[in-house]
Amino acid sequence: MDDHRREIQDGGLFIRDGFVEQVDSTNKLPSTADEVLDLSGHLIVPGLINTHHHFYQTLTRAVPAAQNANLFNWLKTLYPIWARMTPEDIRISTQTALAELALSGCTTASDHLYLFPNGSRLDDEIHAGREIGVRLHAARGSMSLGESKGGLPPDSVVEDEDEILKDSQRLIETYHDPNPGASTQVFLAPCSPFSVSPDLMRQSAILAREYKVRLHTHLAETQDEEAFCLELFGYRPVAYMQHLNWVGPDVWFAHSVHVNEEEIGVYAQTGCGVAHCPTSNMRLASGIAPVLDMLQAGVKVGLGVDGSASNDGSHLLEEMRQAMMVARLRAGLRGASLSGDQAPQLMTARQALEIATRGSASVLGRMDIGALAPGMCADFFAVDLNRLEYAGALHDPVAALVFCSPVRADYTVVGGKFIVKEGQLLPIDLPVLIERHNRAATRLLSDA
Ligand SMILES: [Zn+2]
Repeated sequence: MDDHRREIQDGGLFIRDGFVEQVDSTNKLPSTADEVLDLSGHLIVPGLINTHHHFYQTLTRAVPAAQNANLFNWLKTLYPIWARMTPEDIRISTQTALAELALSGCTTASDHLYLFPNGSRLDDEIHAGREIGVRLHAARGSMSLGESKGGLPPDSVVEDEDEILKDSQRLIETYHDPNPGASTQVFLAPCSPFSVSPDLMRQSAILAREYKVRLHTHLAETQDEEAFCLELFGYRPVAYMQHLNWVGPDVWFAHSVHVNEEEIGVYAQTGCGVAHCPTSNMRLASGIAPVLDMLQAGVKVGLGVDGSASNDGSHLLEEMRQAMMVARLRAGLRGASLSGDQAPQLMTARQALEIATRGSASVLGRMDIGALAPGMCADFFAVDLNRLEYAGALHDPVAALVFCSPVRADYTVVGGKFIVKEGQLLPIDLPVLIERHNRAATRLLSDA
């Protein structure tokens, strides 16, 4: 995924102080190092980058009452359960989500936390995340438009707008690191058009731009949202964002399923990025995002697993496969023949990998991740090719990574440090975490 998209047989990396110094054939690399890792027989890939998640939702996977609902009904079922979360629940779910991500090859994750019940703070997530070691882009998300003001969420989970802005400023000043190699960044993310006021959107944008941090929200996810925006604001979702001055290279939107050609053009011209979340869009029957059209128009597209209550997993390799598959399904549904001169452009395995690496990096505004090249962060993962899932596919290991059943990473390395080694997650005791996580989930649901 370097600028020339090189794939090197018998290749290797030379890493110093957390950054890649050399990428080449192994025999051209320095012959000694403080530590030498022999990964012969493995495929080594730039670390995958997740551009949209809600870690806390790992506590509410497969909730029976929300299994067969569309977005608005799914949210209304889950809001009251989420309202019971504590700071400890935020910490546990952060570690569970990041553990799952790291084991799927993820080295940078963006998370969107937008409710802060019972004294929870974004600090809880950031501190818990640091114990795992995956780079974290943490949203100070927000909701302020409760039911009584015409919004979707119950009043019990929304916050006062002045407090949201004050806390946003505190968090940026405390945690945001704009430098190359940053392990923590903060961005502002009012949740969605149907849960925040236009004024909070505007004020958040002013604050974010003052501090040069990024802006993020859910947009054009469902037809319900489109109808809501037209009725309440008189605009389609993208036009509403333009009206609020919420477009530009510092903005990225989750989903963007229901965008037309003209709106894709707005993204391309203004530099807005998109977090493509195919599994969630299928799970909630939201639709299929026109990703190939966006790429063709020059829109920055990254990959996201979305929250674990609408996926219900945090497996980025699986998500990459879903992205490729659903793009092909869309091409087929549009009536294009799969052979001959009329063959539609099918998303390739390498395109899917590019979305999950370089694409995601550009969406997050990171020039130092998403590729293995001199000067980039030493973020990569490796999978042993000698395994059942890849049997018969070794003629093209890169394609095997995307086409074949998703596997667990054998090594995940962030800034030269092992997060996963020989298939084991190093920073924490996984069985203990799973037990605590299940206890927390049981408590949240049994209080219902
Ligand atoms: Zn989301």
